[in-house]
Amino acid sequence: MIKEIHIKKFSIVSKHDQNSERMEAKVKTTLLENGLIYDKANPELVICIGGDGTLLYAVHHYLEQLESVYFVAIHTGNLGFFTDYREANVDACIQDILKGEVYEIFNSSLLEARVNNETLYALNEVRIENITRTQLVDIFVDGELFEKFKGNGICLSTQAGSTAYNRSLKGAVVDSGLSLMQLTEIAGIHDSNHRSLGVPYILKDDRDIKITSDDFEGAFLCYDHKQISLDHTKEINCMMSDKKVRFIRYRKYSYLERVKTLY
Ligand code: NAP
Repeated sequence: MIKEIHIKKFSIVSKHDQNSERMEAKVKTTLLENGLIYDKANPELVICIGGDGTLLYAVHHYLEQLESVYFVAIHTGNLGFFTDYREANVDACIQDILKGEVYEIFNSSLLEARVNNETLYALNEVRIENITRTQLVDIFVDGELFEKFKGNGICLSTQAGSTAYNRSLKGAVVDSGLSLMQLTEIAGIHDSNHRSLGVPYILKDDRDIKITSDDFEGAFLCYDHKQISLDHTKEINCMMSDKKVRFIRYRKYSYLERVKTLY
């Protein structure tokens, strides 16, 4: 244990399935019976019930309050990377919250994408995707032209996102605790006229990545489960953000145990 954190106000973000909603009711009732206050607007702890996708949704919901909110998650399916408890351990989770003995606070940095005067954030990844036609982009790293990419798009992932979309693109799974970004291609075209790196590129966390194109018509900027159209956009700037998600861990967390569920 590193310290005691006694939560007074909590909220619950739950997946909309019967099982998760049943568990939500149980957790909420027990915590209320023990004197905690349910405060959806200003919680100290957000309890996510569902899956890794539910945690992403909760993080985006509380994006403006990340400095004052901790997250803990219960998975109602398999284990999950953002979840510390399985369904069968829900009572242990409730007891841990009530006891308040914290093993670790784990910070996970967000990615930041600046586009058309808007700043967007992602815990897993930022993607530029165009499934309607071949997308051409120039990719600059710290202001220097890195490559001209042609294909469906590119994905810039965090360590946390390395096991998500990045992995489907044959990006590397990155060990927990490493702070870096990973750039992967989405269906890159490589022929005698066009070449790009073709394999994942792992970048230091203080790099600035600029992606430009004369024509982003039909393309989307996807950030975690969200997206905006890139029609009429010329440039996107990406970097690691100062914003962090604070996971409260009441027990030792095994990243390896989670990686082993992937195969
Ligand atoms: P979603 O249904 O919320 O998630 C899609 C799948 O990705 C679910 O199985 C989810 O796990 C899993 N997932 C999410 N974050 C993960 C992580 N950090 N490590 C390992 N697995 C993770 O889908 P969505 O709303 O469209 O998008 C949310 C995220 O899903 C995106 O950020 C993207 O990384 C991922 N995704 C991946 C692919 C792909 O690999 N081809 C396609 C679409 C989306 P749970 O079942 O535990 O929620």
